[in-house]
This record gives sequence, structure tokens and C-alpha cells, in this order.
Amino acid sequence: MKIEEGNKMNCINPSKHLQLYICKIKSGYVCWNCKKTMDILIICELDQVDFDMCSCFAYEKPDNIINIAKLHGVKMEKRYVKFTREEYIAHVCPHCNVVQGDNSVVLDNHQFDSITDKEVFKILYNKNTNMFILPEQHN
Ligand SMILES: [Zn+2]
Repeated sequence: MKIEEGNKMNCINPSKHLQLYICKIKSGYVCWNCKKTMDILIICELDQVDFDMCSCFAYEKPDNIINIAKLHGVKMEKRYVKFTREEYIAHVCPHCNVVQGDNSVVLDNHQFDSITDKEVFKILYNKNTNMFILPEQHN
């Protein structure tokens, strides 16, 4: 992987291989299993941030989102799902260790009224490597 050095602004240029997204950490999501609250991470398109509309990463996320989530106190893990017979990265409740389905977390989320933004930050997606990069790692 080669990360371009130099002018930061170049890296946010959508014509290049890095694409800018907005990451939100939201507090107050209630685990369907144990009913305790946990933080979740969603990735928004730039022009959809106000609506909490999720991006193309709602279902398929680069592996290294797990580490980025961890840095922000959100537990995500790669799990095997029998139903789809695929591995995928999902939110996991830190209290009971049960996977939270993407449908619950990002779509038709009736909980959003009670969930508050805890953190909002920019994230860069590198199309070439299928990895996320935090802008501060990118000096
Ligand atoms: Zn739980």
C-alpha cells in the first residue's frame, strides 16, 4: 500500500483513490438481547450526514473498520452467519457478546430518536487497498 505524502487536501479529492466519508459514533442503541445500551458506528455519505443515511458500507465493510471502531469504544467483530453462509463484520454487544444485525443497526432504525451523536469524524476510504484511513494517520 502506498499512501501519498504531502498536501493533505489532495487526499480528499474525490477524483483520486481516496474517498471521504463521515463516521458517526452514536450512543444509546439498545441491544435486542440484553436490553443494555451500547455505542454503534455508522458510515455516512457526505451529503447524507444529516439524515443518518448510511453508505454502501452498511453491509460490507473493510476489515480494518474493526480497529477504528475499537479506537472509539465500539465493538465490532467478523462473524460467520449461517443464514447467508458468509463472514461479515457486525456490531457486537459488549455486555452479552451477541451480534446486532445490520438491519437493526442501520436500516429502519426505530431507535434513532433516542440515539445521540457521541462523535462525528471524517474517514477516508482507499479504493485500491479496501481499507479505511483516519485522516490524522495520514500526515
Ligand atoms: Zn447485549
